[in-house]
Amino acid sequence: MNTSDPLQLQQQYVLGTYAPAMLISRGAMSWVWDGDGRKYLDFATGISVCNLGHCHPRVTEAIQRQAATLVHVSNLFYNENQPRLAAAIARHSFGGRVFFANSGAEANEGMIKLARKWGHDQGKWQVICMEESFHGRTLATLAATGRAKYRKGFQPDVAGFVHVPFNDLAAVRAAITPQTAAVLMEPVQGEGGIRPATQEFMTGLRQLCDERGLLLLVDEVQCGMGRTGRMFAHQHYGITPDAMSLAKALGNGVPIGALVVRQELKDVLTPGTHASTFGGNPLCCAAGLAVFETFEKDNILDNVRVMGALLREKLLALQQKHPGIKDVRGLGLMLGVDLGRPVGDLVTAARAKGLLILSAGETVLRIMPPLTVQPDEIDLAVRILDEVLSGSAAPAAV
Ligand SMILES: *Cc1c(COP(=O)(O)O)cnc(C)c1O
Repeated sequence: MNTSDPLQLQQQYVLGTYAPAMLISRGAMSWVWDGDGRKYLDFATGISVCNLGHCHPRVTEAIQRQAATLVHVSNLFYNENQPRLAAAIARHSFGGRVFFANSGAEANEGMIKLARKWGHDQGKWQVICMEESFHGRTLATLAATGRAKYRKGFQPDVAGFVHVPFNDLAAVRAAITPQTAAVLMEPVQGEGGIRPATQEFMTGLRQLCDERGLLLLVDEVQCGMGRTGRMFAHQHYGITPDAMSLAKALGNGVPIGALVVRQELKDVLTPGTHASTFGGNPLCCAAGLAVFETFEKDNILDNVRVMGALLREKLLALQQKHPGIKDVRGLGLMLGVDLGRPVGDLVTAARAKGLLILSAGETVLRIMPPLTVQPDEIDLAVRILDEVLSGSAAPAAV
């Protein structure tokens, strides 16, 4: 083909698994620009990936420096950045051991393998998962995902996953069999509609897993890395999981995932039982280190708490004005506005007015600004949302 037009190339050569809305060619902190140079306030952050904003200077500088030093050596050798990043994750969480992967699904695959290996000698291999959960698109994580529509056409499902209603401890208890190895859940369901676990559910799950000898596996791929106002969402609940998965925001845009396991489980995955060629390479880990450094130096979590409270307050005020809003919920800067009806048209209308937001499930607007967001940006976003909900045609002052 004799063209360099990205849209034409996209349509002819990229597999059509996505329906991209538009071209984005540049980003800086809370803003991105389309191919025509029009700018948008980004409250979608690449699905909670660029949590420190687009091209955060400290992360960019770290990537550039590392790209000129060493990009990849494989895990046949160790590098300076992987153990340092593992230590940073351990320091901010529960002091565990880290396995590095490249995505959320791959981190979750590792977590499922951990549970199977751990339970193997006792004949335990099943995992209890939550309805409306999302854990990834690989075969095992798809089977763990609690939304049948994603699995449609790919049966038979990988065996060993059962689903129970979220926040229903009695249902989890009733689903336990002698073959159950673990419970897998998101502390705040993301794709499922921005639904936080209740305190009773989290405390109860930890107790139940202890009593019945099960692992509690927590998927922090979306709600982790400061999104909710704590570094990891489970920390709001005062419980410690046996393992957690990370990805999305860990590298602020560079593909990196991680499985973090309690020290007590460090000998479950022994040499040769699990691996990843790219996992923990020095380039991605340099980005991850710059992310943690930024959290520490720039008090990012304080900003999430303050801006999260401000955004919630403004969304609740919108709810007063627009009775179509059934619920405003979430934690920190992971907020959902439930309209109780499909929201696709609102996402499109907001984009036309210069604001990028997402849906979560069918009926929920998912609002995830960068964690570095400032009050004037929140004002603008809420003004645009107000207009969109009013069906107003007046252009926003961008
Ligand atoms: C996005 C997501 C995943 C999958 O991550 P990928 O990097 O797309 O594989 C898994 N779990 C949760 C909670 C997610 O939000």
